[in-house]
Amino acid sequence: MHPSVFFLPTFLEAVRSNTEESFRSIMTEPIPGVYSFAMLQPTFCEMLLEEVENFEKWVHAMKFKIMRPNTMNKYGAVLDDFGLEAMLNQFMEQFIAPISKVFYPEVGGGTLDSHHAFIVEYGKDRDLELGFHVDDSEVTLNVCLGKQFSGGELYFRGIRCENHVNSETQHEEMYDYTHIPGRAVLHRGRHRHGARATSSGLRINLLLWCRSSVFREMKKYQKDFPSWCGECQREKRERQSQCVKATKMEFLFTTRSYLSQETACCGTYAELS
Ligand SMILES: [Zn+2]
Repeated sequence: MHPSVFFLPTFLEAVRSNTEESFRSIMTEPIPGVYSFAMLQPTFCEMLLEEVENFEKWVHAMKFKIMRPNTMNKYGAVLDDFGLEAMLNQFMEQFIAPISKVFYPEVGGGTLDSHHAFIVEYGKDRDLELGFHVDDSEVTLNVCLGKQFSGGELYFRGIRCENHVNSETQHEEMYDYTHIPGRAVLHRGRHRHGARATSSGLRINLLLWCRSSVFREMKKYQKDFPSWCGECQREKRERQSQCVKATKMEFLFTTRSYLSQETACCGTYAELS
């Protein structure tokens, strides 16, 4: 791990300062919970792309069968499988964990302790697009490494718990992100998303799924609705507004009967005067 070779000075400085303010100074948050920032040095992107290419050539020459990154991508490779596991663990612990601790404490962002890192490849003769899904992670880092491409936008459709993973998307939850080489997007694993078709060229992204065993264990015992699920929160607001409506009705009813008594009194006074 050579931080100054890997990362842009702006990113290094923000992590070194390690405050919410320093992180926000290099980030945009286009919709709640999605953070985007310039992260990797162009030379590092090239080095990593070259290494992936070498690995794939070797796999091809040896007629090896390799594990694909996940159930949805046919192309790409697991970086942990060719010698980058220790480096990527440091990558997560020293550079992603401090940010996650600030922005995602309620989904285990403060206790990340393992990762799954892989490369995905999109374009002609590669994967074309990726359907709507959630990741097997608490926090996901998605960095575009290159090369030249058009299309391939990352679309977000709201954060959901297991019970609500297929529920409707609200208008304000819709957001499309356009990849730029060297630039990263950070989001919760439960933030539903997908990738639009890469219409030309070749797009290669690095994915780092960060996990927390503590969060996964605690979740088994959690009974109330998660604060981070958009649908749970929407239902909660609806219940609250129903409740407010009912209280209002009750209040109006009691006030009206009280008022009618008052009016009766006033009426009596009026008569007297
Ligand atoms: Zn929910």
